[in-house]
Amino acid sequence: MSKFKSIDSYIPKKEYELLPFKFDHFDDKRCIITNMVGEYLLLNNNDLYSLINKKISSDSSIFSSLRSKHFIRYEGENSPLELLALKYRTRLSKLVNFTNLHVFVVTLRCDHSCPYCQVSRQSEDKNQFDMTYEMADKALDFVFKSPNPAIKIEFQGGEPLLNFPMVQYIVEQAEFRNKSENRNLQFVIATTLSLLTDEILEFCRDHSVMLSSSLDGPQDLHNANRPRPSKNSHQLFEDGLNKARAVLGYDRVSALMTTTDKSLSRVRDIIDEYVRLGFNSVFLRALSPYGFAIKTKRYMMYDVDRWLKFFKEGLDYIIFLNKSGIPFVEVYSALILKKMLTSDDPGFVDLMNPAGAGIAAIVFNYDGYVYASDESRMLAEMGDFKFRLGNILTQSYEDIIFSDQLLDALEDSFTLSVPMCSDCAFEPYCGAEPVFHYAVYKDMVGRKPESAFCKKNMSIYKHLITLMENDEETKSIFLRWATQC
Ligand code: SF4
Repeated sequence: MSKFKSIDSYIPKKEYELLPFKFDHFDDKRCIITNMVGEYLLLNNNDLYSLINKKISSDSSIFSSLRSKHFIRYEGENSPLELLALKYRTRLSKLVNFTNLHVFVVTLRCDHSCPYCQVSRQSEDKNQFDMTYEMADKALDFVFKSPNPAIKIEFQGGEPLLNFPMVQYIVEQAEFRNKSENRNLQFVIATTLSLLTDEILEFCRDHSVMLSSSLDGPQDLHNANRPRPSKNSHQLFEDGLNKARAVLGYDRVSALMTTTDKSLSRVRDIIDEYVRLGFNSVFLRALSPYGFAIKTKRYMMYDVDRWLKFFKEGLDYIIFLNKSGIPFVEVYSALILKKMLTSDDPGFVDLMNPAGAGIAAIVFNYDGYVYASDESRMLAEMGDFKFRLGNILTQSYEDIIFSDQLLDALEDSFTLSVPMCSDCAFEPYCGAEPVFHYAVYKDMVGRKPESAFCKKNMSIYKHLITLMENDEETKSIFLRWATQC
């Protein structure tokens, strides 16, 4: 007699029930279904119909997939609900800790004059655009009121190295306060590297300060995008990169790129330049509709369709590099893939719901005003103060964090309740982005069928899923990206 009962004995005789999911057309033949924890499945239209009418056979492979991804459960079964709840809590767990990233705009002065600059930079000699010590102290009071055990302080400008004594002061004061606070404290300077000196690098080494820089591509493209009077911004970047890597360590310097109209036909050149300079990733970023970018109409010089063509061509090339033995990551895809393929959320401000503005990151401007995000202060530089949360010199942490400007933006843009997003199958991967929609459409929600944010992201979600469905090797590359970002 067999020790075990037959396999049939282990299959419940009950009917299955549907767990919450959303669905949408994916292509001519298939639909996509997703659930609140980001699991997805592509089904042909007939299978979707069968699923909803509870006609999927329990011995089919679709049935197993639906069960393992928590789209169905047997009547009365608790474990699928508990697993869903656990994964959902994990995805939202970063919200509990509240603000991690604190941006200090220590000066608006800059030695570059990039036409797409997102801030209203000032010339190098205008000291009235520098943060004062009183503001820095008040901002540090604010920083340590955040309950987050991990605190990142990022220095931005303008060019923060033009006010390096203030950077030094804030780092030293933060370290002093942290002796009793015991937070996991990190410092980053966002710099073009053009003004790096040995003294600055020694300070960064001694205080574990990382550098985040900008690289727009090969020399001609970088110099055209980031002009300096002596037309040598790329050379200064490369020299600075080599020096910084030698003193701080190879991985202590990162780079970001911005796509201008000049970049659109050069995506392979841009990626090749990142590879040549020893980077293992690139973040293919579109221009933001803020600051000088909108003033100079650069933002309008390409539309979302042209940018998507650039992005997809770049992604194809990066996949080709990976298949050829060069491990290299496209960062925006990796952030989305983390939401698609793991239970974790990377906490990337643009793709957060509730919006990351103010709660994932907050900005202290050189003049004492506090903003919900970097983009909000750029909007303010253009005369629109919609997302100005308060002033560090006159208002308390509570006044600022509980301000209507912040709470209204979060509440009004919540994707689970806004038109179209609430029904969208891609909502688990998407973000609220009230600042973008307000900047472009003067409405924090925006009409999604006309939203460039919606069009861009929906196209990328579909593209990533299609690439994974069509090729197992690409799927394993993407899985690696999702787990390492
Ligand atoms: S913005 Fe667009 S893609 Fe994102 S959730 Fe809303 S409708 Fe879906």
